[in-house]
Amino acid sequence: MKLELKNSLSVKLLRVVLLSALIVGVVLSCAQIVFDAYKTRQAVANDAQRILDMFRDPSTQAVYSLDREMGMQVIEGLFQDDAVRMASIGHPHEAMLAQKTRELQHSNSRWLTDLILGQERTFTTQLVGRGPYSEYYGDLSITLDTATYGKGFIVSSVIIFISGVLRALAMALVLYLVYHWLLTKPLSRIIEHLTEINPDRPSAHKIPQLKGHEKNELGVWINTANQLLESIERNTHLRHEAENSLLRMAQYDFLTGLPNRQQLQQQLDKILVDAGKLQRRVAVLCVGLDDFKGINEQFSYQAGDQLLLALADRLRAHSGRLGALARLGGDQFALVQADIEQPYEAAELAQSILDDLEAAFALDHQEIRLRATIGITLFPEDGDSTEKLLQKAEQTMTLAKTRSRNRYQFYIASVDTEMRRRRELEKDLRDALIRDQFYLVYQPQISYRDHRVVGVEALIRWQHPEHGLVPPDLFIPLAEQNGTIIAIGEWVLDQACKQLREWHDQGFVDLRMAVNLSTVQLHHAELPRVVNNLLQMYRLPPRSLELEVTETGLMEDISTAAQHLLSLRRSGALIAIDDFGTGYSSLSYLKSLPLDKIKIDKSFVQDLLDDDDDATIVRAIIQLGKSLGMQVIAEGVETAEQEAYIISEGCHEGQGYHYSKPLPARELSAYLKQAQRSNAAIL
Ligand code: C2E
Ligand code: MG
Ligand code: MG
Repeated sequence: MKLELKNSLSVKLLRVVLLSALIVGVVLSCAQIVFDAYKTRQAVANDAQRILDMFRDPSTQAVYSLDREMGMQVIEGLFQDDAVRMASIGHPHEAMLAQKTRELQHSNSRWLTDLILGQERTFTTQLVGRGPYSEYYGDLSITLDTATYGKGFIVSSVIIFISGVLRALAMALVLYLVYHWLLTKPLSRIIEHLTEINPDRPSAHKIPQLKGHEKNELGVWINTANQLLESIERNTHLRHEAENSLLRMAQYDFLTGLPNRQQLQQQLDKILVDAGKLQRRVAVLCVGLDDFKGINEQFSYQAGDQLLLALADRLRAHSGRLGALARLGGDQFALVQADIEQPYEAAELAQSILDDLEAAFALDHQEIRLRATIGITLFPEDGDSTEKLLQKAEQTMTLAKTRSRNRYQFYIASVDTEMRRRRELEKDLRDALIRDQFYLVYQPQISYRDHRVVGVEALIRWQHPEHGLVPPDLFIPLAEQNGTIIAIGEWVLDQACKQLREWHDQGFVDLRMAVNLSTVQLHHAELPRVVNNLLQMYRLPPRSLELEVTETGLMEDISTAAQHLLSLRRSGALIAIDDFGTGYSSLSYLKSLPLDKIKIDKSFVQDLLDDDDDATIVRAIIQLGKSLGMQVIAEGVETAEQEAYIISEGCHEGQGYHYSKPLPARELSAYLKQAQRSNAAIL
């Protein structure tokens, strides 16, 4: 803080000190002048007395002898003194023996001095003869003009006045310097230190003691101020702590330490904003305990609290997958799954929470089992705001409880049915292999060099006892999630190799078998050994088994994928990249991977005649494959026109309904024989 100079204490001090010094100077000088005036008047009388004394005898002589001449001589003698204006010798009742008068002296200061001293003053002394008779002869009178005295008086008054004022001013200046040195300067330094104090941490910067002022009022002031600042800081700290704990109380649940509803709403608001921007899904799960009231009544409220605490801990174990976790109150909790792709991810979380509750809680040497019902809402499908999502999740949970408990329920019925079906399928999938519900179909692959069937792709089918044929696009991702894909994949490889051996034995010795590999399988360390064993077991020549991997699976972890592909290749298999063009392959990576074949995704092939872009992509992929020295096969060839286009672009092989749908082994054997016959006929 900068002070304006005119407001500074120094200037004010200077002003006050100067003014008071001036007043005191003037008053004292005036007193002195008054005293001087009195003294001057005194001096006039003294002088007159002295003159009268001096001339008394000659005057007496003159009046006694009535000698006029002598009288005049005496008068002339008196007039030697400049101050004498009039003098007379004589008896008052007779004519004067001698007398003389002269003009009043001229002086500029008369007007003032006449006021103080009078214009002139007359003094008289009696002329008396010597004793013993002491006879009275007359008077000697003189009148003194005060002008001469007045001049002196004025000069000395001016000197007194000026010196008085100057003395006062000098004193004022000295006083000012003393004040400045002792007060204003130290105060300014204190102010400087005060401005450096951080109001949030007032005692961090102590005001230092000023040298030489440690023991006086300033020193005491600084000490007291420092103590005050310390206690302010202590109080602020306490207030902050109180505020924080209030805030905690306002935002967190007291019992479990989890965020409360209010805090959850804030967190969810933020999550929804982010999800909206990234166009991702969010799931809100409302978990309500089944019959918690009963537990409270059966045991005690303390026991109920302990159970809630233990439950909160189990829920916390899922924190890694959660965007937020909160206690809504009572026996209700909310979990928010931010950034999910598919509703089943929420279903899985809900199921794993329900599974978690299977383990009993130990309470006072007793085992208590808790069951819960979970309501699930999805953003953006079920609502675009925190309130709607939370409210609907709670509603769904309450509604679900009225029907049956210990389960989860999605807000939208169709999603719920789908999820339920998915879960059932997943459960059934675990047994499908043992129950022999899988079988393979095969789709021929045609070489455009001589239009012969050079290979077949094995495609899995699941004959579900209730739902009928379940498409692989639906159950393969499920199998990948629950890990059954490893066993299923090995079964497919075994079946396909066995079938190939059969066809080789039937005389189709050059026939190649293509088998689809899931990414999970690809990263399974056992795979190369399994492939190797099968090739040996079924005595299959090298390069008769082709493994199809998808682009996305490879790109997730290029270096490990490359290693795995290399070891697969070493065991004698060919490697094809399936559904090419649908992922985000980097061309440079493509070069570094050990690949033998590119399969153009059927989506490009199907539209290439209507869509110029697709035609361009197909042409580019063919060129790319060729330039990298790879075989190129088009999948999903359905018409002769599509075939003509890809042949004209130089594609090596084709596969699709134009040649055949995927067929069971027996039918494909017939197809192969038929193809062999028609080829022979052409030849
Ligand atoms: P994919 O490997 O790209 O197989 C080609 C899919 O296209 C097959 O579907 C096939 O029936 C279909 N298809 C063939 N020609 C045509 C055509 O001209 N037009 C049309 N519209 N579609 C045609 P499918 O059998 O339903 O298999 C779907 C996907 O499931 C496969 O795609 C593959 O990724 C996966 N899959 C199938 N069997 C297995 C398996 O044994 N293991 C693994 N891991 N995945 C498999
Ligand atoms: Mg395939
Ligand atoms: Mg494909």
